[in-house]
Amino acid sequence: MVEKLKKSDDEWRQQLTPEQYNVLRKRATERPFTGQYVNVKADGSYRCAGCGAELFRSDAKYDSGCGWPSFWDAVDPERIEKRRDWSMVLPRTEIVCAACGGHLGHVFDDGPEPTGKRYCVNSAALKFVRDKPVAIPTPAPKIAVKS
Ligand SMILES: [Zn+2]
Repeated sequence: MVEKLKKSDDEWRQQLTPEQYNVLRKRATERPFTGQYVNVKADGSYRCAGCGAELFRSDAKYDSGCGWPSFWDAVDPERIEKRRDWSMVLPRTEIVCAACGGHLGHVFDDGPEPTGKRYCVNSAALKFVRDKPVAIPTPAPKIAVKS
């Protein structure tokens, strides 16, 4: 179970930038190819900009050409809630952060294998956290043992 985070509209407005607020709370869509994460290829995790839940990993990010960060899989399907969205003529599936209810984007069925899914996410709904470089352990100093 994902723990739900409840905040008032005022609290969200204070915490988020206007751009994040419009996307996460007002279900706005940023213009294609304008988001800061469209072309990011670095290793790391994509977290919800509202509550910090880890939603996507760079391993599942791919270049879909649609103008928004696209992923073929989520870190954990439980962290993403799917809702039928009837705002357009053709119904779409809206994706929402399960913890804070923030609007992320939409999921489509034209993604690559193995899932066939395309999670199309607004950059403003995400916060990218780059992986720390793997630390190379320093060899323990040799201790001379007296016999
Ligand atoms: Zn969230």
